[in-house]
Amino acid sequence: MANMSAGEVTSDDRLWAALAYFLSPIVPIIILLMEDKKNRPFIKAHNAQALILGIIMAVVVPIVATFTLGCGTVVYFIMWYWAYKAYQGQYINIPLADGQRRACSFDNPPHQAEYIELHVRLIAGGRFTTHVFTRMKAGDDLRFEGPLGTFYLRESTRPIIFVAGATGFAPIKSIVEDAFHRGMRRPMLLYWGVRRPKDLYMMELAQRWQQEHDNFKFVPVLSESEAEDRWQGRSGLVHEAILSDFPDLKGYEVYVCGSAKMVDTAFPAFLEQGLSEDYCFSDAFLPSKG
Ligand SMILES: Cc1cc2nc3c(=O)[nH]c(=O)nc-3n(C[C@H](O)[C@H](O)[C@H](O)COP(=O)(O)OP(=O)(O)OC[C@H]3O[C@@H](n4cnc5c(N)ncnc54)[C@H](O)[C@@H]3O)c2cc1C
Repeated sequence: MANMSAGEVTSDDRLWAALAYFLSPIVPIIILLMEDKKNRPFIKAHNAQALILGIIMAVVVPIVATFTLGCGTVVYFIMWYWAYKAYQGQYINIPLADGQRRACSFDNPPHQAEYIELHVRLIAGGRFTTHVFTRMKAGDDLRFEGPLGTFYLRESTRPIIFVAGATGFAPIKSIVEDAFHRGMRRPMLLYWGVRRPKDLYMMELAQRWQQEHDNFKFVPVLSESEAEDRWQGRSGLVHEAILSDFPDLKGYEVYVCGSAKMVDTAFPAFLEQGLSEDYCFSDAFLPSKG
């Protein structure tokens, strides 16, 4: 019998590792079949980096790990978790009784996954939001589907401009808190556009981010302030404030979230002012068709 040093990989180890490698996909495949395929953020992420990382995770890492460490099973579980975990900035769909759906973005970052927090704006005559504000009470069941969507922060070194319209602040809060949590150092500017000061429903939080993080700046912009508001800050449409502050948007990465009208107006204007199409991302709060 050959002398063995501690930690040396034997042919038996390799046999067990190979068995684990070939059997381990069964578990995630069963889970995949049980899951709603639409709800996989990785599959929805049409992003070259995610794709390359996914291929490495799915093919290279398990093979290398199996034949060196014998830990293919663990790697597959990590891969499954990575593919399914919620990203920052995503939303859920809430089915109504007749099958119509209303989307709502969650504001909490992935590291606070024990609850889901939503920002709901009351729409006059709106079916879902009227229900939330007038009839929904603590303890009611709320069914939802998700997480969905691809409005998450891309990996790059560019300075970031966030543009939030009203409750479009919710997914941006999720992204920003995740960035702080990960210690990200990229410069971040948040422009939050609302009508009146009372609509800046989490202004203290955004101000606190600015005080606590030297790479974060906050600019509130009001579109319909009245004399009684005594507003001293920026006025007008939120995207116009950005156009005026950044005559050349080349080199920036922009994330816009809010009404479809705001998104549709802002993007062409940003592109015209030098922003690359590859670095602009949006989440438009489209009204439901049903
Ligand atoms: C990806 C995504 C994420 C979203 N996230 C959020 C969120 O975080 N918070 C949130 O409050 N909403 C969010 N929305 C919008 C939300 O899904 C609903 O459309 C909205 O809450 C209105 O639903 P409702 O049933 O009350 O109104 P409905 O009964 O659908 O609409 C009533 C009337 O109001 C109009 N209307 C609907 N929405 C608006 C609007 N925004 N502005 C002006 N008129 C409108 C409709 O055209 C219709 O005439 C999101 C939408 C999408 C697509």
